[in-house]
Amino acid sequence: MRNEGILIVVSGFSGAGKGTLMKRLVEAYDGYALSISATTRKPRPGEEEGREYFFLSREQFEKRIADHALIEHAEYCGNYYGTPRDYVEKELSEGRDVILEIEIQGALKIKEQYPDALLLFVSTPDAAELRRRLSGRGTETQEVIQKRLCRAAKEAGGIEAYDYIVINDDLETCVKELHGIIRAAHHAPGRNEAFIEKMRRELEGKQIEN
Ligand code: ADP
Ligand code: 5GP
Repeated sequence: MRNEGILIVVSGFSGAGKGTLMKRLVEAYDGYALSISATTRKPRPGEEEGREYFFLSREQFEKRIADHALIEHAEYCGNYYGTPRDYVEKELSEGRDVILEIEIQGALKIKEQYPDALLLFVSTPDAAELRRRLSGRGTETQEVIQKRLCRAAKEAGGIEAYDYIVINDDLETCVKELHGIIRAAHHAPGRNEAFIEKMRRELEGKQIEN
């Protein structure tokens, strides 16, 4: 039985492969809606306005905060990042599972507002692979890579707040695991209250009949 979609938060160290995984997940399976965040960071080569992010100036971003147009926002390595409210609420109400690929401060704010959100943390198998992927992506300067690795060390302290960890070693295996976890979450009793209620009513009716 399907009612509202699940709000899924995916966090993980920069370079762990979150963006790559989310792209594959929505290609491979139906029913997911990927939220596009707003940010004040500059676009990387190949990134497009409205596809990877909505790229805003600091003034534009602060106006969104003041207008309550973001359900959460955070500062990460010197830039603002935030989740637009309208898209998330609309997609959830239409029964789609909405994925937010956001960092840990944002994830915790989402958990406060949406206690039923499913929090997933993506990691590489080890730190050396993280450094390799971050450098191999070739989109950041050494200085920014260093900042992001520092930040990763801090984020490692918050992993216990998440519901599940997924290790992105082989990409396709990891995509299947992510999808499996999300499918399983749909079967939690808390997400099937209408069904439980219906069964209880029917069973009570049966007792009266006999
Ligand atoms: P994030 O969004 O977490 O910062 P990206 O999705 O940009 O990470 O991935 C970082 C780099 O690692 C990219 O160059 C990407 O192609 C590569 N990558 C992602 N997943 C894997 C994987 N399973 N195996 C090897 N390389 C990967
Ligand atoms: P990047 O600059 O590599 O695209 O993203 C940097 C970090 O910001 C990543 O950890 C990413 O998950 C996070 N991020 C992206 N969008 C949002 C958002 O809307 N809110 C928050 N809190 N973090 C975000």
